Amino acid sequence: MTAKDQLTFCDPVSRFPDITPPKQHQPEPGLDAELEPQTDRGEDSYRGTGRLEGRKALITGADSGIGAAVAIAFAREGADVALSYLPAEEEDAQHIKKVIEETGRTAVLLPGDLSDKEFCTQVVEDAVRELGGLDALVNNAGKQIALEDIEELDDEQWTTTYEVNIHAIFRITKAALKHLPAGSTIVNSTSIQAYEPSPTLVDYASTKAAINNFTKGLAQQVAPKGIRVNAVAPGPIWTPLQVSDGQPKEALPEFGKSTPLGRAGQPTELAPAYVFLTSPESSYVLGETLNVNGGMPTP
Ligand code: NAD
Ligand code: MG
Repeated sequence: MTAKDQLTFCDPVSRFPDITPPKQHQPEPGLDAELEPQTDRGEDSYRGTGRLEGRKALITGADSGIGAAVAIAFAREGADVALSYLPAEEEDAQHIKKVIEETGRTAVLLPGDLSDKEFCTQVVEDAVRELGGLDALVNNAGKQIALEDIEELDDEQWTTTYEVNIHAIFRITKAALKHLPAGSTIVNSTSIQAYEPSPTLVDYASTKAAINNFTKGLAQQVAPKGIRVNAVAPGPIWTPLQVSDGQPKEALPEFGKSTPLGRAGQPTELAPAYVFLTSPESSYVLGETLNVNGGMPTP
């Protein structure tokens, strides 16, 4: 998929080719490599302007979708990046590593399961060791499984969704704060679901409301240390999350078409929001949730 250059004047309605994804299914966690159509993670379009020169970033869920687009953008802006992802996503992670290295930056691969409490601490320690420090954290990994009826939602799914989406953010953030110097940033991936929960996503959507709230509370707590915490709330973005039971299969062809822009977003359209909140240019922005959702009204 070819996008118009990130910095070229264009109509947001038609910046990307219209997509009507065919019904498809992948086992969780889903691969970008097998998604139809392919997503735009900015490989051919994201142009850096040195806004993260010399930064050292850990990004979770960095192999695919939004996290992959953020990893590419961070590298193009001058950062070295540690990528956290599940072992089953090695193919996607290797692709992003290659793109980052072609940019002339370092990519550190850290596969493992964030529903494991010990791994949440280990991934931070490994990133610090491999990058030679840490000054940017992006908590982006997420689990989303749609179910029609709460009767089908078992305790295991409820608990794992909470483990990955919010408990891991608490654990990783706590481990990272020991290492983050003044000037560092944390950006959490939340969702439009935090305010407009779909009836099929009661577990997922409630974790996203928790992320928004955690972001605003923690931002105040660590502000005096010179650490800024913010969130990005995506709307419907075309990623592997959606085809690995994130949406009912029947809903895929219409995915994103009810937004004011009339289309789903591409992962690369999220990247500038994460770059902005990580870069020193947003030094007076704390506890903010930046909505990137094609125009859906938010509180
Ligand atoms: P994605 O599938 O590309 O990324 C999600 C990533 O989460 C996976 O790549 C995987 O590496 C990671 N992950 C899941 N379970 C994990 C586990 N147990 N251990 C370690 N890593 C695990 O999908 P995406 O849409 O790019 O999602 C990124 C974030 O954006 C998520 O937090 C998601 O909730 C959020 N979000 C997405 C949308 C959307 O429409 N795609 C909308 C709002 C919010
Ligand atoms: Mg993935």
